[in-house]
Amino acid sequence: MHRTFEKLISECEHIAFDLQFSHAKAWKRASSERFLAGYLPIYIPREVIHAMGGLPVGIMGTGDRMQIIKGDAYYQSYICHLPRGVVELAMSGAFAEFDAFIFPSICDVIRNLSGMFQIFKPDVFVKYLDLPQNFLPSVGGAYYRREIETTVEGILSHRSTVPFENEVWVERLNHSIRLYNENRALIERIVTIRQEYPWRVSAVDWYNVLRSGLAMPVEEHNNILYELEAYLQDDRGRPLDNIRVVISGAFCEQPPVGLIKTIELAGCYIVDDDFMLGSRWIEGDIAEDTSDPLGAIVDAYLQHSTFSASLYEAAPASGTKVERLASLVKSRKADGVIFAAPSFCDPALLDRPELQLGLERAGVRTIGFQYSENTGQFKVIKEEVGAFSDSIKLWGSGADGSEPDSHMWLPTVIEDLTAIA
Ligand code: SF4
Repeated sequence: MHRTFEKLISECEHIAFDLQFSHAKAWKRASSERFLAGYLPIYIPREVIHAMGGLPVGIMGTGDRMQIIKGDAYYQSYICHLPRGVVELAMSGAFAEFDAFIFPSICDVIRNLSGMFQIFKPDVFVKYLDLPQNFLPSVGGAYYRREIETTVEGILSHRSTVPFENEVWVERLNHSIRLYNENRALIERIVTIRQEYPWRVSAVDWYNVLRSGLAMPVEEHNNILYELEAYLQDDRGRPLDNIRVVISGAFCEQPPVGLIKTIELAGCYIVDDDFMLGSRWIEGDIAEDTSDPLGAIVDAYLQHSTFSASLYEAAPASGTKVERLASLVKSRKADGVIFAAPSFCDPALLDRPELQLGLERAGVRTIGFQYSENTGQFKVIKEEVGAFSDSIKLWGSGADGSEPDSHMWLPTVIEDLTAIA
């Protein structure tokens, strides 16, 4: 018998925010051959860990659910909050049963954190996974393949296990790719349902479901997504006179749940976002029945990964980040974009001016603010977002091709004045 909708969401919330990772640890204890590989935002090829018999566990920070004391001692004040929480977790023993940690290249903070973990956890495999910024198969592709192979070799050697025979490995990796393809397809189907009927599942409930997938086996998460999809086939909830927005910039340190709720309460349906970007990094399927599944994972990264501030401009064929964000806004029929970035997040904040200017020129209304994962006061943000929502309801989004209203963003004003001078 299926769970009720409410039970499904509450179970997901519990797993998503369990800072002891009890669900993942219980999974591991069922067999001595299993292992846990923690990973930081944004993206790692989880298929490879799964094929090795492990569980990739996303470490997304502590949010507003843990008091940070020791973690603060490791960082200067002008650094984002995420690594403080991760250090606090490490110091409190939350990662006691983890066998490996993977730190994908995203910024200097994450890179330095990988160095700290090498000191904290000398008996555990720690890998700084340097994702390529070059999208040529012969350069970035060859390099990325070697990075993944090194990761596999490192985990094997730390666990003193031998690699699978090639035939078995190919079959296992293809199987894992199939499961993650299914996972991504389900996520995209639900996002598409939410685009049309965002009131059927709130942004917070959807966030809980999506985030829980980082701490459980993909097979289990797929079942949850099927259950949720079935619930969303029927109308539920009540449509409100909200505008539709895309959230951009929250791909690493996650906003507190209260902030997501505040955006909705202020009159916005979040029809797309980059909260759990790693789960959606590869757009579409990875080839799932090849004799070289590792090559298929590398090809997918090079050819159809999403855009992010952690990357330089993606492959030119896919368009610039501004073009891709504008295209996402259009395809989701959004009225505007909310740039929400963690304080002191270099990648998100460095990209924001270009993205905001580009969207403004494309006639897309935007607003921006910063947060910290433990922000507790949302009054000011609620007023700002509420005013943004009201202004679009009153004067339109400009999405119909009409000129956006007379709102001028400061860089545009400066640029225009410079041109006149
Ligand atoms: S929030 Fe930004 S600055 Fe902080 S670790 Fe993540 S990407 Fe780096």
